[in-house]
Amino acid sequence: DASSDGVRRVLLKLSGETFGAGSVGVDAAVLQRVAGEIAEAAASGIQVAIVVGGGNFFRGAELQQSGMDRARADYMGMLGTVMNAIALQDFIEQAGTQCRVQTAIQMTQIAEPYIPLRAIRHLQKGRVVIFGAGAGMPYFSTDTVSAQRALELRCDELLMGKNGVDGVYTADPRTHPEAEKLSTISYDTVLSHNLQVADGAAFALARNNSLPMRVFGMTEPGNVTAALRGENIGTVVSA
Ligand code: UDP
Repeated sequence: DASSDGVRRVLLKLSGETFGAGSVGVDAAVLQRVAGEIAEAAASGIQVAIVVGGGNFFRGAELQQSGMDRARADYMGMLGTVMNAIALQDFIEQAGTQCRVQTAIQMTQIAEPYIPLRAIRHLQKGRVVIFGAGAGMPYFSTDTVSAQRALELRCDELLMGKNGVDGVYTADPRTHPEAEKLSTISYDTVLSHNLQVADGAAFALARNNSLPMRVFGMTEPGNVTAALRGENIGTVVSA
């Protein structure tokens, strides 16, 4: 395994949509369910790192549309991800698993700064680690950070939890009802068919460094635990 001690280590990307369940703010019922599934997988020995999005609060590109300076808007977006990280931490701890938040922008009353070796240490002790504030840099997305963190922490897989889709299809299932779900697909096919798996920078990082990505649906109860454990759900994108 990538984690070098033979233990499965994964990075789970949760988009802001998951937290808000379609609106602004955090939906406690959804968080409780997802946190319970994460705690269950962690309790069974899986090392779980998480990158949280922030689209349920602010997206920089949308604030820019309304006239804001892009970089400032992106910092607001990053602060939104920190709120999600703290909320998720609370529910994971309520579910009985220790959990640490590390942020790419320092705010040490709330969270640890991002220290990769320390994050690995937490994982080895069975703690879930949540990364907030994205990369700490405007013009980046949390998808891109999830690929970067997965690589730096030597995760076996990058798990992209989706709302609305449950894998990669031969075409967009919303407009092409005949589209079929694939269980595996190569990076090259994703590119040549222009399929949306993650944003371009995240996809390029994964492809260039042979990091497998699994796209799966978040909404079906049990799927988060299944994906964390390595069960064959959704679609695996690899070489
Ligand atoms: N963001 C950023 N740099 C980062 C990560 C995020 O500027 O490294 C900002 C950006 O404005 C983005 C917002 O934070 O729109 C929320 O993140 P994202 O859109 O990736 O969240 P998701 O779509 O996963 O909910």
